[in-house]
Amino acid sequence: AKENGRNTYQFYMPEMNQRAFERLFLNSDLHRALDRGEFELYYQPQLRLSDGAVVGAEALLRWNHASKGQISPVLFIPLAEESDLILTIGHWVLEQACLAARRWYNAGYRQLRVAVNLSARQFTRSLPQTVAQVLRQTALPPELLELELTESLLMEKPEQVREVLEQLRELGTLTAIDDFGTGYSSLSYLKHFPLNRLKIDRSFVKDLTSDSDDAVIIEAIIALAHSLRLQVVAEGVETPAQLEFMRRHGCDDVQGYLLGRPMPADELMRFLQQRPMP
Ligand code: C2E
Ligand code: CA
Ligand code: CA
Ligand code: CA
Repeated sequence: AKENGRNTYQFYMPEMNQRAFERLFLNSDLHRALDRGEFELYYQPQLRLSDGAVVGAEALLRWNHASKGQISPVLFIPLAEESDLILTIGHWVLEQACLAARRWYNAGYRQLRVAVNLSARQFTRSLPQTVAQVLRQTALPPELLELELTESLLMEKPEQVREVLEQLRELGTLTAIDDFGTGYSSLSYLKHFPLNRLKIDRSFVKDLTSDSDDAVIIEAIIALAHSLRLQVVAEGVETPAQLEFMRRHGCDDVQGYLLGRPMPADELMRFLQQRPMP
């Protein structure tokens, strides 16, 4: 330790050690977060472009840490994914999201889906059983649950994933490929899997009005996805120009700050009430 100018001690650890220390510290907090009720789901609306109806909401996890404030899932999900903790958290997320969707259903929103992000580690052979159990327990119609998975998962264990996806389709839930375009799978590869929707990654949407390559890529993704009978959702829509582009190219649904930020469940309810019911 080295004394600095103001009678406090600054610890000079090699950078790696400091980071390891921080990780350990967060990690032990993370294990207790669920029991302490520090997790909360936010919901971001998804709008259908043809009529502007809110057709879904993506559940996004927030950690309200007692002393550090709200922590981004980008920071703690990778940490949770290093152990089975992600299974416990993932199950809680699934239950909470289905409960919320059932409340929307009870309030008269009979077609409003909830989309849940799944980590690769959750994608085991027992997933369909887990999902079926949560649907029963929350009395949510299966078609109102959409599961988001990444394309890298399809690449890593294609056979097992296809089997699981087939069982999920039998259950009646929907599946979406998240962050499409960031991995290395091609659209032709997707046709081997029973999927319903494809989400265009935010990075393509972001530069689409300045980068003509990105515009061409998005056009191609939408056209090819439709030829495979996949619906297309654009994420990260922030500007009217991006929205207009999606409309012009027949994108099905849009999600992004322009249309609505992720918000707590009660706020989403108010958001819905301010709009005509589809
Ligand atoms: P994602 O699944 O790609 O989620 C979309 C992210 O983009 C969210 O960040 C959302 O808040 C943000 N976003 C939405 N619209 C806009 C926009 O117009 N502009 C910009 N710049 N960003 C926008 P968030 O909530 O920080 O989540 C980050 C990632 O953490 C998610 O990326 C997802 O991979 C992961 N994640 C979040 N919740 C869960 C969860 O319950 N389980 C798992 N396994 N992963 C989760
Ligand atoms: Ca997602
Ligand atoms: Ca995404
Ligand atoms: Ca992403």
